[in-house]
Amino acid sequence: MAPPPDTFCFAAVGDVHGRMDRMVSSLQTWAKSAHRELAFVLQVGDFEPHRDDADLATMAAPARYKHLGDFADYHQKRRRFPWPVYFIGGNHEPHGYLDTAPEGFLLTSNCRYLGRVGVVETRGLRIAGLSGIHDAPGFQKPHPALSLLGTVSNKDYACFNEQDIEQALGLERADILLVHDWPSGLVAAEDRQDFEHQRRSPHADAVGNEYARLVAEALQPRLVLCGHLHKRYRGTLKWPSGAQTPVCCLASVEQGAEAFAIFQVSRGALQEVTHLGTLPVR
Ligand SMILES: [Zn+2]
Repeated sequence: MAPPPDTFCFAAVGDVHGRMDRMVSSLQTWAKSAHRELAFVLQVGDFEPHRDDADLATMAAPARYKHLGDFADYHQKRRRFPWPVYFIGGNHEPHGYLDTAPEGFLLTSNCRYLGRVGVVETRGLRIAGLSGIHDAPGFQKPHPALSLLGTVSNKDYACFNEQDIEQALGLERADILLVHDWPSGLVAAEDRQDFEHQRRSPHADAVGNEYARLVAEALQPRLVLCGHLHKRYRGTLKWPSGAQTPVCCLASVEQGAEAFAIFQVSRGALQEVTHLGTLPVR
């Protein structure tokens, strides 16, 4: 039976790191096997849309992680994203490209950067995004000017600052919030041991940052999406009022199915329907 007309699905995708083809083919495989269309795709940063080596050179990362990826095919219109993709910036991005329009812009057909702090409204949902990660030295400084690229560390472009947080807190409300790193205080007591001695999380208390949590508390969205740790997790933020916000943490596209989550909106209710466990992991 066909779903009611006000029902639709969207996908959430973890760190892509330039593997656009793999993101697209994974989602197409799901859509085909589920006989469902996707309304849009939300991506939580470390998207790495490099047009060329000059863009790649402006990304903060050790040389061994600097791969061009396949975004150039999409930018030069040899390939096309089949659905609108909305992404935020992570800590590995071509700032020489994205910072040309910190308020966000359309990079190519169906591919929009939400900006340092931005909002998009689509299909009755208000989606807010905060780009970057927390880094104490950069928090109280303005973002460096593009003209300083090459003279300051690329890392100086990769963090959000106090002004970004103020702006995000002023967004009033959101149905969905995209942040790159996790909100702090997310890991449940029973899951703590899963976070010991991981490369990206030495222990559960070190996971996440308080600013992502602060923005989530202010906006109290119906869903928070994040990536960064390359780890699948589902958690809940509990607020003093008794309200709760579910958080969906996504692995990286390179890791396979755990990078993806599919949500359905039906008669206004939003729920996760699958994590693509049936996807072939290549
Ligand atoms: Zn990443």
